[in-house]
Amino acid sequence: MTGIIFDVQRGSYVNGPGIRTTVFFKGCNLKCTWCHNPESQDFEPQIMFYKSKCTSCGICRNFCESKESCIICGRCTRECLTGAKALCGKKYTADEIMEIIKKDIPYYKNSSGGVTFSGGECMLKIDFLTELLQKCKENNIHTAVDTAGYIPYSSFEQILPYTDLIIYDVKCMNSTVHKKYTSVQNTLILDNLKSLLLIDKEIWVRVPIISGINDSEEEINELKSFYEMYGYPQKTELLPYHSLGEHKYEAINKELTRFNTPSNDKMQKLMKLIK
Ligand code: SF4
Ligand code: SF4
Repeated sequence: MTGIIFDVQRGSYVNGPGIRTTVFFKGCNLKCTWCHNPESQDFEPQIMFYKSKCTSCGICRNFCESKESCIICGRCTRECLTGAKALCGKKYTADEIMEIIKKDIPYYKNSSGGVTFSGGECMLKIDFLTELLQKCKENNIHTAVDTAGYIPYSSFEQILPYTDLIIYDVKCMNSTVHKKYTSVQNTLILDNLKSLLLIDKEIWVRVPIISGINDSEEEINELKSFYEMYGYPQKTELLPYHSLGEHKYEAINKELTRFNTPSNDKMQKLMKLIK
């Protein structure tokens, strides 16, 4: 089986416990306007172009064999000396990904780390994801799946036997606001979270906090009431919005919406509430 992967980050300390390798699947069924990885949203490979790095040397044009329209072969990205062009997304087999993952087995063992599958939405490629998770378990590697949860619960049932940790992104508790900024309502997402909280599985909930959108006390209190009804996850992380991905919007020719980062005081207050 194959899947389009846009990044594999080794030696990471985020996305789960210990030292991890994070595998980023390309393609997402949410379109969060604040996404710091906008290149993760489209399902197909893309060429990213960083105008500010381009010296207009013309090398890329000389190497391009498709003069009519770009066929995303990636050749120009390999020839460009300044890094102005980059290929985002490449087809991999599960064995090719496992070869990369297995290089860091000693680090996983020494740090109680492992592998995290993320995206995009990795669960949209459920059979490919299941194959990768099974192969990790055959190698005794701890597995985490990072998801926004907008998928049928049957997909969770398929991966749960091979998944040690679910990292569950909750964008917003207010469904109207959720729809406005992510393109979908949150009913299915919260229904799936409810089902997951009711079973014996480690869950970390992550909430991106965007100033003026979902940083009110009401929002966090609503999440807390949800936990009180269905159970608390092992961890809840509130992540303040950052603008580090803004330059990528121009690189993929996508319109950028600017948001504000909540203050430290606000973050402290919200964290206290959820604890
Ligand atoms: S090779 Fe790179 S720097 Fe040169 S024109 Fe192409 S994108 Fe610009
Ligand atoms: S990706 Fe391939 S087809 Fe597209 S511009 Fe570059 S060399 Fe040409």
